[in-house]
Amino acid sequence: MKPAPFDYVRAGSLEEALAALAEGGEDAKPIAGGQSLVPALAMRLVRPSLLVDLNRAGLDGVESNGGLRLGAMVRQASLAEDERVHPLVRAALPYVGHFVTRNRGTVGGSIAHADGAAELPLCLVALDGVVVVEGPGGRREIAAREFFVTHYLTTLAVGEVLVETVWPLAREGESSAFVETALRAGDFALSMVAVRLLRNREGAVSEAAVAVGSVTDRPTRLAEVERLIVGSTGAEAAAEAGALAARLVDPAGSQHASARYLRELTGTLTARAVAEAA
Ligand code: FAD
Repeated sequence: MKPAPFDYVRAGSLEEALAALAEGGEDAKPIAGGQSLVPALAMRLVRPSLLVDLNRAGLDGVESNGGLRLGAMVRQASLAEDERVHPLVRAALPYVGHFVTRNRGTVGGSIAHADGAAELPLCLVALDGVVVVEGPGGRREIAAREFFVTHYLTTLAVGEVLVETVWPLAREGESSAFVETALRAGDFALSMVAVRLLRNREGAVSEAAVAVGSVTDRPTRLAEVERLIVGSTGAEAAAEAGALAARLVDPAGSQHASARYLRELTGTLTARAVAEAA
């Protein structure tokens, strides 16, 4: 298949990108690494009249300021070498597509694309990260938990650009784990779980984050599982956390895996991730 006809603008700055998107209206779309958008264009799943290229818009900065602020155009592959990147993100990164797609794919593109089976959105929700967007109404900061609505749908408004994401730095006494199961390496996950635990001086878990993806339509925190873990050593609560997670998710089965299998798989992965983080 070939894309439907579209106009193309290469933005030299964020201002130029916003102006082009404003002019293009509803049918204009930003393009970043193109690793999701280009296949969707080729299959005519999307038919924008205008593509606004962000690759020269100056959105690839990285700074440590109240967390790690990653510009939208930071390439996924670059996260592997940066010590400031949270260990949970570095654990998840090898599962994000393939090495070649990570060289072009961007952090902002993955977050904006909002595939329910994407690892970076799951990590951002598990870490209580923030999405920073800019558009006709100015700049907005959106908590990751509020940003993802459902598969491929976020609270980004027409004409807005995701400019950066803010990730917490790892804290003293904190541990994390990321686990997923996919049919083949590089495939989107059948189920995936991200866990972050913070421990007090006595070794008990004082804060827990448990987020699941792929079996939900967006990255989802399991608050009941988190409450169950707090106060325990983590390891002692792992099996019960897995059993509760299996009850809480309501996956739709597919030709690859039944709903029952996905539910049990999520329980097993949750127990494993909690035990690993503990
Ligand atoms: P693009 O494809 O350029 O854009 C994606 C969407 O986001 C478009 O709608 C675009 O308009 C919008 N967008 C992009 N940047 C912005 C912005 N700054 N502001 C507003 N909107 C924006 N991903 C995974 O997470 N896990 C996987 O296992 C996985 N497997 C893959 C396997 C293959 C073979 C391929 C080709 C891709 C795979 N991906 C996977 C997707 C990949 O990670 C993409 O890079 C990512 O989903 C989108 O990032 P991008 O920079 O390529 O964005």
